[in-house]
Order: sequence, then structure tokens, then C-alpha cells
Amino acid sequence: MGRILRVFDFDDTLAKSVAYIYVKHKDGKETTLSPSQYAKYKPKRGDEFDFRDFNSMLNNPQVIKKNFKLLQQMLKNPNKKVTILTARALGFPIRKFFKDEYGLDVYPVTLASNNPKDKADWIEKHISKGYTDIAFMDDSLKNVRAVQQLQRKYPDVRIKSVLAVEHLTSSQKKKLIENHIEELSKTYL
Ligand SMILES: [Mg+2]
Repeated sequence: MGRILRVFDFDDTLAKSVAYIYVKHKDGKETTLSPSQYAKYKPKRGDEFDFRDFNSMLNNPQVIKKNFKLLQQMLKNPNKKVTILTARALGFPIRKFFKDEYGLDVYPVTLASNNPKDKADWIEKHISKGYTDIAFMDDSLKNVRAVQQLQRKYPDVRIKSVLAVEHLTSSQKKKLIENHIEELSKTYL
């Protein structure tokens, strides 16, 4: 029987915390972006990004209930490998938060990279280790797509790549759906 892998992103998928990305622009000015603004930000020449908030203890973390419950349930099943896969560079603050607040033992895998390919590569490595039933959840559409792409290469592996939307407001969800429909219609032109 194939092995089962369940993978969760951390920020804005399992929990929200107060953290910004600082952008130092060519002219020396510094601005801040929320993670969702950063996801859509088109870098300009000379921009330098500083992720210091993601390398320290979590600031006012709150679990996203629906997805966190799913994580708790899955951790009870010894037949499933359950992993938190994060672009962060430090796993300790995440581990400490889940341990102290919920008594959960989790070891986050840190990529220190927000390149979607790095998440997909990590999943692919597990396919080569014999995992044939994989589910992945992330609030970044780019990450979700990168992982879903693996399905073409591995048609016999069950890959379910899910966009986490629980952290969005209803108007943000509406906008997301509208954008998606618009994009789909473009592919038919
Ligand atoms: Mg995220």
C-alpha cells in the first residue's frame, strides 16, 4: 500500500500572526507589506526585502480554526505523515507555539525560500520515497499551482493541492473567485 502524506503551510493557512515584509527601495525609503500584499507585489529594480519578522518569535499568533482542527485530526492518525512546510527560515517559533498553546508535537520543515518550486520539489522528493497519496494546503495560489503541476508528471499519484481561503474576508473571497473566472475565460480566447 502506498504511503500517505499531508502537508500544511503555516502562515495564513494554519495560523495568522502579525508580521510584515520590509522593502527597502532604491531611493533608500522603506515600506512594509503584509504577506498577502507581498504575494501580489511586483518587485522593482533595486528593491531589497527584509523578512526579519518571520525570523523571530510569533507576534500575537491565532490559529485558523478550521484548518488547525484538520491538522489536529491528522496528527492522531499514525498512518499519515503530517508536515508543516514553511517558507520561513526558523521552525522553532512555530514548534514552540503549537507545543505551549496546544500541547502538539510538530516539527516544521523550513525552506528559507518563498519560491513555489521549492515546495513542489520537497513534495516531489516524497513521491520518489514512495508516497502515493498526497494532500497539500497553502494560501498562496502560486504554491498550490506548483504542487498541482506534479500531477502531470506523476499521473498514478493522488495529488490534492488545495488553496486555503479561511483567512480571507468574504469580499476577498469574492474577488478571488472573480479573478479566477476571468483567468479561466482568458484561456479560452
Ligand atoms: Mg502562507
